Amino acid sequence: MVDLHTHSTASDGSLTPTELVRLAKARGLAAIALTDHDTVDGLAEAMAAGQAYGLEVIPGVEISAQHTQGSMHILGYWVNYESPRLAERLAVLQEARRNRNPRIIAQLNALGIPLTLEEVQRLSGGGQVGRPHIARALYEGGYVRSLQEAFDIYLGNQGKAYVSKFRYPPGEAIAMIREAGGLAVLAHPFTLGLDTYGSLKPFLKELMILGLVGLECYYPEHTLSQEALYVSLARELGLLITGGSDFHGDNKPEVDLGRCPCQARLTYDLVAAMKDRRQGKGTQGR
Ligand code: AMP
Ligand code: FE
Ligand code: FE
Ligand code: ZN
Repeated sequence: MVDLHTHSTASDGSLTPTELVRLAKARGLAAIALTDHDTVDGLAEAMAAGQAYGLEVIPGVEISAQHTQGSMHILGYWVNYESPRLAERLAVLQEARRNRNPRIIAQLNALGIPLTLEEVQRLSGGGQVGRPHIARALYEGGYVRSLQEAFDIYLGNQGKAYVSKFRYPPGEAIAMIREAGGLAVLAHPFTLGLDTYGSLKPFLKELMILGLVGLECYYPEHTLSQEALYVSLARELGLLITGGSDFHGDNKPEVDLGRCPCQARLTYDLVAAMKDRRQGKGTQGR
Protein backbone atom coordinates (compact mmCIF):
# COMPACT_ATOMS: atom_id res chain seq x y z
CA MET A 1 0.00 0.00 0.00
CA VAL A 2 1.09 3.57 -0.64
CA ASP A 3 0.06 7.08 0.38
CA LEU A 4 0.77 9.74 -2.24
CA HIS A 5 -0.52 12.81 -0.41
CA THR A 6 0.99 13.80 2.96
CA HIS A 7 2.09 16.92 4.82
CA SER A 8 4.87 17.59 7.36
CA THR A 9 5.91 20.45 9.64
CA ALA A 10 7.49 22.06 6.56
CA SER A 11 3.89 23.16 5.82
CA ASP A 12 0.83 22.37 7.91
CA GLY A 13 1.39 18.79 9.07
CA SER A 14 2.23 18.09 12.71
CA LEU A 15 4.96 15.46 12.17
CA THR A 16 8.48 16.27 11.00
CA PRO A 17 9.49 14.62 7.70
CA THR A 18 11.52 12.05 9.66
CA GLU A 19 8.60 11.24 11.99
CA LEU A 20 6.33 10.89 8.97
CA VAL A 21 8.68 8.42 7.27
CA ARG A 22 9.07 6.46 10.49
CA LEU A 23 5.28 6.21 10.89
CA ALA A 24 4.86 5.13 7.25
CA LYS A 25 7.46 2.41 7.77
CA ALA A 26 5.76 1.27 10.98
CA ARG A 27 2.45 1.09 9.12
CA GLY A 28 4.08 -1.17 6.53
CA LEU A 29 3.53 1.20 3.60
CA ALA A 30 5.58 0.47 0.46
CA ALA A 31 6.00 4.14 -0.53
CA ILE A 32 4.87 7.62 0.40
CA ALA A 33 5.06 11.00 -1.28
CA LEU A 34 5.63 14.10 0.82
CA THR A 35 3.53 16.86 -0.76
CA ASP A 36 3.78 19.95 1.42
CA HIS A 37 1.88 23.10 0.43
CA ASP A 38 3.98 25.47 -1.70
CA THR A 39 7.30 24.27 -0.29
CA VAL A 40 9.99 21.65 -0.91
CA ASP A 41 11.77 22.42 2.36
CA GLY A 42 10.91 19.06 3.96
CA LEU A 43 12.09 16.93 1.03
CA ALA A 44 15.83 16.61 1.73
CA GLU A 45 15.07 15.39 5.25
CA ALA A 46 12.32 13.05 4.03
CA MET A 47 14.59 11.50 1.37
CA ALA A 48 17.37 10.99 3.93
CA ALA A 49 14.90 9.40 6.35
CA GLY A 50 13.64 7.17 3.54
CA GLN A 51 17.21 5.93 3.03
CA ALA A 52 17.77 5.46 6.75
CA TYR A 53 14.52 3.55 7.37
CA GLY A 54 14.35 1.71 4.04
CA LEU A 55 11.18 3.34 2.69
CA GLU A 56 10.61 4.64 -0.84
CA VAL A 57 9.92 8.37 -0.59
CA ILE A 58 8.73 10.31 -3.63
CA PRO A 59 9.68 13.99 -3.50
CA GLY A 60 6.52 15.99 -4.09
CA VAL A 61 4.81 19.33 -3.62
CA GLU A 62 1.22 20.66 -3.61
CA ILE A 63 0.76 24.06 -5.26
CA SER A 64 -2.35 26.24 -4.84
CA ALA A 65 -3.65 27.64 -8.14
CA GLN A 66 -6.27 30.19 -9.17
CA HIS A 67 -9.76 28.89 -9.66
CA THR A 68 -12.95 30.92 -9.75
CA GLN A 69 -15.12 28.82 -7.47
CA GLY A 70 -13.85 26.33 -4.92
CA SER A 71 -10.12 25.70 -4.81
CA MET A 72 -7.53 24.09 -7.05
CA HIS A 73 -4.39 22.33 -5.87
CA ILE A 74 -1.84 20.80 -8.23
CA LEU A 75 0.40 18.02 -6.97
CA GLY A 76 3.93 17.56 -8.36
CA TYR A 77 5.74 14.22 -8.11
CA TRP A 78 9.52 13.70 -8.43
CA VAL A 79 10.21 17.40 -8.52
CA ASN A 80 13.87 18.40 -8.36
CA TYR A 81 13.78 20.01 -4.95
CA GLU A 82 17.21 21.54 -5.51
CA SER A 83 16.01 23.59 -8.49
CA PRO A 84 16.69 27.31 -7.84
CA ARG A 85 13.97 28.27 -10.34
CA LEU A 86 11.38 26.22 -8.45
CA ALA A 87 12.52 27.68 -5.13
CA GLU A 88 12.18 31.18 -6.54
CA ARG A 89 8.64 30.58 -7.79
CA LEU A 90 7.55 28.88 -4.54
CA ALA A 91 9.02 31.76 -2.52
CA VAL A 92 6.38 34.05 -4.05
CA LEU A 93 3.62 31.82 -2.64
CA GLN A 94 5.36 31.53 0.73
CA GLU A 95 5.61 35.29 0.98
CA ALA A 96 1.92 35.65 0.08
CA ARG A 97 1.02 33.30 2.94
CA ARG A 98 3.40 35.07 5.35
CA ASN A 99 1.91 38.48 4.50
CA ARG A 100 -1.61 37.23 4.98
CA ASN A 101 -1.17 35.81 8.51
CA PRO A 102 -0.95 39.17 10.35
CA ARG A 103 -4.00 40.36 8.39
CA ILE A 104 -6.02 37.34 9.53
CA ILE A 105 -4.85 37.92 13.13
CA ALA A 106 -5.87 41.59 12.86
CA GLN A 107 -9.35 40.53 11.70
CA LEU A 108 -9.63 38.13 14.63
CA ASN A 109 -8.47 40.86 17.04
CA ALA A 110 -11.16 43.15 15.60
CA LEU A 111 -13.69 40.39 16.35
CA GLY A 112 -12.56 40.44 19.99
CA ILE A 113 -10.18 37.46 19.92
CA PRO A 114 -6.83 38.55 21.37
CA LEU A 115 -4.60 36.09 19.46
CA THR A 116 -1.02 37.05 18.58
CA LEU A 117 1.17 35.96 15.66
CA GLU A 118 3.79 34.74 18.17
CA GLU A 119 1.30 32.28 19.69
CA VAL A 120 0.47 30.96 16.24
CA GLN A 121 4.12 30.66 15.22
CA ARG A 122 4.82 28.60 18.32
CA LEU A 123 2.35 25.97 17.02
CA SER A 124 3.83 25.71 13.54
CA GLY A 125 6.73 23.36 14.23
CA GLY A 126 9.21 25.70 12.57
CA GLY A 127 7.98 25.49 8.96
CA GLN A 128 5.56 27.74 7.10
CA VAL A 129 2.75 29.26 9.17
CA GLY A 130 -0.74 29.11 7.71
CA ARG A 131 -4.42 28.90 8.53
CA PRO A 132 -4.28 25.42 10.11
CA HIS A 133 -1.92 26.81 12.76
CA ILE A 134 -4.25 29.74 13.40
CA ALA A 135 -7.07 27.18 13.68
CA ARG A 136 -5.06 25.29 16.29
CA ALA A 137 -4.40 28.48 18.25
CA LEU A 138 -8.13 29.31 18.19
CA TYR A 139 -8.91 25.80 19.44
CA GLU A 140 -6.27 25.79 22.16
CA GLY A 141 -7.40 29.25 23.29
CA GLY A 142 -10.93 27.91 23.75
CA TYR A 143 -12.45 30.15 21.06
CA VAL A 144 -13.79 27.23 19.02
CA ARG A 145 -14.74 23.64 19.82
CA SER A 146 -12.81 22.02 16.94
CA LEU A 147 -10.33 22.81 14.19
CA GLN A 148 -13.16 22.42 11.67
CA GLU A 149 -15.23 25.00 13.56
CA ALA A 150 -12.29 27.43 13.33
CA PHE A 151 -12.51 27.13 9.53
CA ASP A 152 -16.30 27.17 9.40
CA ILE A 153 -16.66 30.33 11.53
CA TYR A 154 -13.45 32.28 10.95
CA LEU A 155 -10.83 30.99 8.51
CA GLY A 156 -12.57 29.24 5.61
CA ASN A 157 -13.35 31.24 2.49
CA GLN A 158 -16.81 32.04 3.88
CA GLY A 159 -15.39 32.79 7.35
CA LYS A 160 -15.49 36.11 9.22
CA ALA A 161 -11.70 36.52 9.24
CA TYR A 162 -11.01 35.20 5.72
CA VAL A 163 -8.28 36.97 3.79
CA SER A 164 -7.46 35.85 0.24
CA LYS A 165 -3.92 35.42 -1.04
CA PHE A 166 -2.02 35.38 -4.33
CA ARG A 167 -2.16 32.18 -6.39
CA TYR A 168 -0.58 31.31 -9.74
CA PRO A 169 -2.83 30.51 -12.68
CA PRO A 170 -3.06 26.72 -13.26
CA GLY A 171 -0.76 26.81 -16.29
CA GLU A 172 1.95 28.47 -14.26
CA ALA A 173 1.62 25.97 -11.39
CA ILE A 174 1.84 23.07 -13.87
CA ALA A 175 4.84 24.66 -15.64
CA MET A 176 6.70 25.07 -12.33
CA ILE A 177 6.33 21.36 -11.69
CA ARG A 178 7.21 20.28 -15.22
CA GLU A 179 10.23 22.52 -15.47
CA ALA A 180 11.46 21.00 -12.20
CA GLY A 181 11.16 17.56 -13.82
CA GLY A 182 7.94 16.55 -12.04
CA LEU A 183 4.64 14.96 -13.03
CA ALA A 184 1.71 17.37 -12.53
CA VAL A 185 -1.44 15.83 -11.04
CA LEU A 186 -4.73 17.55 -10.19
CA ALA A 187 -5.41 17.09 -6.45
CA HIS A 188 -8.80 16.18 -4.87
CA PRO A 189 -10.97 17.25 -7.85
CA PHE A 190 -14.08 17.41 -5.66
CA THR A 191 -12.97 20.91 -4.48
CA LEU A 192 -13.35 22.31 -8.02
CA GLY A 193 -17.13 22.34 -7.94
CA LEU A 194 -17.23 20.55 -11.32
CA ASP A 195 -18.80 17.21 -10.64
CA THR A 196 -20.46 16.27 -13.88
CA TYR A 197 -18.89 14.43 -16.78
CA GLY A 198 -19.86 17.30 -19.08
CA SER A 199 -18.22 20.05 -17.02
CA LEU A 200 -15.14 18.22 -15.76
CA LYS A 201 -14.01 16.65 -19.04
CA PRO A 202 -13.34 19.88 -21.01
CA PHE A 203 -11.72 21.37 -17.91
CA LEU A 204 -9.32 18.43 -17.63
CA LYS A 205 -8.58 18.54 -21.36
CA GLU A 206 -7.52 22.17 -21.04
CA LEU A 207 -5.26 21.34 -18.11
CA MET A 208 -3.76 18.47 -20.14
CA ILE A 209 -2.84 20.92 -22.89
CA LEU A 210 -0.99 22.82 -20.16
CA GLY A 211 0.85 19.64 -19.14
CA LEU A 212 -1.33 17.87 -16.58
CA VAL A 213 -0.70 14.09 -16.58
CA GLY A 214 -2.69 12.74 -13.64
CA LEU A 215 -5.82 12.94 -11.52
CA GLU A 216 -6.06 12.23 -7.78
CA CYS A 217 -9.08 9.93 -7.94
CA TYR A 218 -8.71 8.28 -4.54
CA TYR A 219 -9.17 10.72 -1.67
CA PRO A 220 -10.92 10.37 1.71
CA GLU A 221 -13.58 12.98 0.96
CA HIS A 222 -14.56 11.60 -2.45
CA THR A 223 -17.87 9.77 -2.52
CA LEU A 224 -17.93 6.49 -4.41
CA SER A 225 -19.81 8.14 -7.27
CA GLN A 226 -17.27 10.97 -7.48
CA GLU A 227 -14.47 8.41 -7.44
CA ALA A 228 -16.14 6.45 -10.23
CA LEU A 229 -16.50 9.62 -12.34
CA TYR A 230 -12.85 10.60 -11.81
CA VAL A 231 -11.55 7.10 -12.57
CA SER A 232 -13.56 6.82 -15.76
CA LEU A 233 -12.47 10.27 -16.94
CA ALA A 234 -8.83 9.49 -16.12
CA ARG A 235 -9.05 6.25 -18.13
CA GLU A 236 -10.79 7.95 -21.05
CA LEU A 237 -8.32 10.84 -21.21
CA GLY A 238 -5.17 8.82 -20.48
CA LEU A 239 -4.46 10.51 -17.15
CA LEU A 240 -2.56 8.68 -14.44
CA ILE A 241 -4.69 7.70 -11.45
CA THR A 242 -3.26 8.65 -8.05
CA GLY A 243 -4.51 8.88 -4.49
CA GLY A 244 -3.67 9.54 -0.89
CA SER A 245 -5.01 10.40 2.54
CA ASP A 246 -3.88 14.06 2.74
CA PHE A 247 -2.39 13.22 6.13
CA HIS A 248 -1.70 16.30 8.30
CA GLY A 249 -1.15 14.57 11.68
CA ASP A 250 -2.89 16.32 14.58
CA ASN A 251 -3.78 19.25 12.32
CA LYS A 252 -6.44 17.12 10.55
CA PRO A 253 -7.34 14.56 13.20
CA GLU A 254 -9.98 12.77 11.15
CA VAL A 255 -7.36 11.50 8.68
CA ASP A 256 -4.70 8.89 9.38
CA LEU A 257 -1.64 7.99 7.32
CA GLY A 258 -2.42 5.42 4.64
CA ARG A 259 -5.92 4.97 6.06
CA CYS A 260 -9.04 6.07 4.25
CA PRO A 261 -12.18 4.52 2.79
CA CYS A 262 -10.24 4.28 -0.48
CA GLN A 263 -7.15 2.66 1.04
CA ALA A 264 -7.68 -0.67 -0.72
CA ARG A 265 -7.13 1.14 -4.05
CA LEU A 266 -3.87 2.78 -2.91
CA THR A 267 -1.58 0.06 -4.23
CA TYR A 268 1.97 0.23 -5.49
CA ASP A 269 0.61 -0.24 -9.05
CA LEU A 270 -0.23 3.48 -9.03
CA VAL A 271 3.42 4.32 -8.40
CA ALA A 272 4.60 1.82 -11.03
CA ALA A 273 2.39 3.51 -13.65
CA MET A 274 3.71 6.94 -12.64
CA LYS A 275 7.26 5.69 -13.03
CA ASP A 276 6.47 4.29 -16.49
CA ARG A 277 5.09 7.70 -17.48
CA ARG A 278 8.22 9.41 -16.21
CA GLN A 279 10.25 7.17 -18.45
CA GLY A 280 8.05 8.02 -21.40
CA LYS A 281 6.26 4.67 -21.43
CA GLY A 282 2.50 4.18 -21.32
CA THR A 283 1.55 7.66 -22.46
CA GLN A 284 -1.47 6.37 -24.36
CA GLY A 285 -4.86 5.84 -22.73
CA ARG A 286 -4.68 3.38 -19.89
P1 AMP B 1 -3.31 28.19 3.96
O1 AMP B 1 -2.22 27.51 3.25
O2 AMP B 1 -2.85 29.04 5.09
O3 AMP B 1 -4.27 28.88 3.04
O4 AMP B 1 -4.16 27.02 4.62
C1 AMP B 1 -4.67 26.02 3.77
C2 AMP B 1 -4.87 24.73 4.53
O5 AMP B 1 -5.89 24.92 5.50
C3 AMP B 1 -5.36 23.62 3.65
O6 AMP B 1 -4.32 22.91 3.11
C4 AMP B 1 -6.10 22.74 4.63
O7 AMP B 1 -5.17 21.97 5.36
C5 AMP B 1 -6.71 23.76 5.55
N1 AMP B 1 -8.07 24.19 5.15
C6 AMP B 1 -8.41 25.13 4.22
N2 AMP B 1 -9.74 25.31 4.15
C7 AMP B 1 -10.26 24.47 5.07
C8 AMP B 1 -11.61 24.18 5.49
N3 AMP B 1 -12.68 24.81 4.96
N4 AMP B 1 -11.77 23.25 6.46
C9 AMP B 1 -10.69 22.64 7.02
N5 AMP B 1 -9.42 22.86 6.67
C10 AMP B 1 -9.20 23.75 5.70
FE1 FE C 1 -3.11 21.54 4.36
FE1 FE D 1 -4.96 20.19 -1.04
ZN1 ZN E 1 -2.81 18.37 0.84
